[in-house]
Amino acid sequence: MTTVFKFGGASIKDVNSIIHISNFLKEGTHDNLFIVFSAMGKVTNMLEDIVDAYVINSKDLSVLVEQVKLFHYNIMEGLFEEEELIFDEVNNVFVELDWILEEEPYNNYSYNYDQIVSLGEILSTKIMSQYLRKIGYDHKWIDARDIIRTDNTFRDAKIDWKQTTTLINKKVKSGIYLTQGFIGSTSENFTTTLGREGSDFTAAILAFSLEAKEVVIWKDVPGMMNADPRYFKNAELLPNVSYDEAIELAFFGAKVIHPKTIQPLKKKNIPLFIKSFINILNKGTLIKDKMDLASLYPSYIVKENQILLSISDPELSFIVEEHMSQIFSLLALHSVRVNMMQNSAVSFSICIDNDKYRVPLLIAGLQKDFKVSYNQQLTLYTVRHYKKEDLDILLRNKKILLEQKSRNTIQIIAFEEDYTKA
Ligand code: ASP
Ligand code: MG
Repeated sequence: MTTVFKFGGASIKDVNSIIHISNFLKEGTHDNLFIVFSAMGKVTNMLEDIVDAYVINSKDLSVLVEQVKLFHYNIMEGLFEEEELIFDEVNNVFVELDWILEEEPYNNYSYNYDQIVSLGEILSTKIMSQYLRKIGYDHKWIDARDIIRTDNTFRDAKIDWKQTTTLINKKVKSGIYLTQGFIGSTSENFTTTLGREGSDFTAAILAFSLEAKEVVIWKDVPGMMNADPRYFKNAELLPNVSYDEAIELAFFGAKVIHPKTIQPLKKKNIPLFIKSFINILNKGTLIKDKMDLASLYPSYIVKENQILLSISDPELSFIVEEHMSQIFSLLALHSVRVNMMQNSAVSFSICIDNDKYRVPLLIAGLQKDFKVSYNQQLTLYTVRHYKKEDLDILLRNKKILLEQKSRNTIQIIAFEEDYTKA
């Protein structure tokens, strides 16, 4: 039975970390292993900047492209001798990038995005694969676009599970495989991406299709914490979490796993480990059925860069069901997910990620029929299994715009300026 490993950008961000991970893999004893890599370091962000510069035809474009090239060449120089073939292979990927950038952008931001940003994973896996070969770690490189079939919702592609499962089982035999996270392709062979941080989801898709024994997501944190250690100094490791609790935590924005990761694993009852690639022997977090220790701890989740839209009828008449369905159709059309919502008689408020491309399109769409006002630079706090004392600390000095409580969960939207560390 196969194990699936996923390594994120932080685990392969420079020469030393690549050597560390590669040696770790080489020492491993798995006969059947699927290894998923994301782009190296912050390459996805760099490629996003390239997309933006390309779309608005900015003069910075060539500088940004040079930076991405330099980043990869520096790493390769630390890993390989100059004459090795990998330099040509990576060059070819950059030629592909140059070709895309020479053409006029298509009038579809998300399409342009996927064709460019997906190259980060192609580059990282080519380099990783070549380095692993060099140190004698035998494996097969597989293009995720040959096995992950999606629809054409670019930048947020939906998996065609049937096709994907068939393709994976047709192409994958026993042994060790290495592939890209985050990317897939349509039936017409256009590259798609699964949404930021989507490599975790790729690992889950592979595990689901192969009925894997387990998935391990290797992180730069000790496992799933009850709070983001960057914001809360008393963050604690959650040793065991149930699938259901993990789904909730990821849904509310816990950054440690992509929200779509858990469901496929839960369906096949495949355990998910989240472990530190720095302290490989530490236990980390185990997510599986009926392990609900997480509910003993309050969990704090912080989502920054939120925007709160208040949508009302221009005549200030009531917001009725037809309005709702119109609003939700627009949300679906622009792939915008609602993080929190509230309605009153005459207005409907939604808190969403302030995505610089999706949100203006959504607002423009809404403004055809509604009055829209908004507040930006907000932070959404979610606390699961809250205790009153913890909340008092969290809410101190915050200017709160909206608050919602259920038995297990409280959500608060507050202005970012007022953020003080709890
Ligand atoms: N490289 C992609 C990103 O940074 C996918 C991932 O890391 O999971 O969003
Ligand atoms: Mg990444």
